[in-house]
Amino acid sequence: MTPQSLIRPLVRKLHAYVPGEQPKIQGLIKLNTNENPFPPSPKVLAAVKAATDGRLRLYPNPAADRLRAKLAKLHRCKPENILVGNGSDEVLALAVRAFVEPAPRGRRSRGAARARSTVQYFTPSYSLYPVLADIHGAMRNPVSLRPDFTLPALPELKRRRIWNFNAALTFVTTPNAPSGRGYTTQELDRLCRAQRGVVVLDEAYADFANENALRLALKHDHVLVARTFSKAYSLCFQRVGYCVGHPELIAALHKIRDSYNVNGLGQIAAEATLDDLAYYRANFARIIATREQLARDLTRLGFRMFPSSTNFLLAQPPGPPASEWLRKLRERKILVRWFDQPEVRQYLRITIGTPAEARALVRAVREILSRVQ
Ligand SMILES: *Cc1c(COP(=O)(O)O)cnc(C)c1O
Repeated sequence: MTPQSLIRPLVRKLHAYVPGEQPKIQGLIKLNTNENPFPPSPKVLAAVKAATDGRLRLYPNPAADRLRAKLAKLHRCKPENILVGNGSDEVLALAVRAFVEPAPRGRRSRGAARARSTVQYFTPSYSLYPVLADIHGAMRNPVSLRPDFTLPALPELKRRRIWNFNAALTFVTTPNAPSGRGYTTQELDRLCRAQRGVVVLDEAYADFANENALRLALKHDHVLVARTFSKAYSLCFQRVGYCVGHPELIAALHKIRDSYNVNGLGQIAAEATLDDLAYYRANFARIIATREQLARDLTRLGFRMFPSSTNFLLAQPPGPPASEWLRKLRERKILVRWFDQPEVRQYLRITIGTPAEARALVRAVREILSRVQ
C-alpha cells in the first residue's frame, strides 16, 4: 500500500486548475488576475469591521437569505431564483455536479448517453471548465471560437457537427475571457434556444460591458446566469458569487451545496455592496475609460488589440514572443498574464489597473521596444 494507491485513479491523473500568481513583491504592479484596482466601498469596509467581533463564533445564515433578497430585488426576480456560492467558481462546480452524469468507465458511450455526460464550452474561454469536467469524470466538448474570437453562428455550429446541441451542460463565458469579447444577447438567446441541456452564461465581467444576458435566465427554464462580486465589486478576497435561474434548477443546486457554503463576512460584505452601487458604477466608468485609453496607446506602439467588454485587454505584442514580453515586463515589476495554450500563446492578457498603472505599463513597453530595435 502506497499513499498513491489510496487515491482514486481519476484524481491521481487530474491536472489542477492553475490560478494566476499572487506574489508578494514590493512595488509590483499586478495586472495578472483581473482584480479591481479600487478598494471596496468605505461602507463595505465599515460593515465588515462592525461584524468582526464575538459573533464570529456563530454559524452564518445557511442560504444567505438577506443577500438573496437584495439580489432578487436588484434583478427583479424572487429569492427562489437565486443561489449564492463561495465565489462563482463554486456555482460552476455545483452545476456540473447537479446536471452532468459522470461518464461510464471503460465504455465509449454514444448519442444520448454521451450527451448526458458532456460538459461543453468554447475555446479559448475560462480554463476552469475542463478541470471541473475532469474532477467529475465527465466528458468535455471544447469547440473553437472563430479566429477573431467571435461566436460561431448556429448554422456554422450545425454544419461543423462538433457542437453538441444535447450536451447536459454548456458553459459560455460572456463577455469572454481571455479574449475580452462580448457577445450580443440576441446571439446568446439563439444559442440557448437551440440547446436541450442546461446553459450557464458565466457573466463574471458583465458590469464592464454594454449589455448583459441576465434576462435569459428568467426567460428560459434551462438557462442560468452566473455572476460574481470578485471582479467588478472588488471582493475577490471574500469569495461571493451567485447564479440566477429557474427555481427548480436553483433548488437542485441548493440540495447539493455545503450547508454553510458562504462565509458570514462575505455575506455582510456583499449585502453592503448592493447598498452602495453608485460607488461601484463610478469605478466601472473609470476602468472602462482607462481600458480604452490603454488600448489606443498600445495600438500606437504596434500591439494588435482585440475589442474588450471586460476589465482586461488581450494584446499581441510586436517583436519578441509574448512569453518574452511577460518576462521583460516582470523584470520591470509589472505582472501580466500569459497562457501557454495554442490558441492564445501569442497574446498577453492585461488587467486594467489604475490610470497611473496603465501609464507605467506604457512607459515600460516603450522602454522595452527601444531596446529590441
Ligand atoms: C474570475 C472568474 C470567475 C470566478 O469568480 P469567483 O467568484 O472569484 O470564483 C468565474 N468565471 C470567470 C470567467 C472568471 O473570470
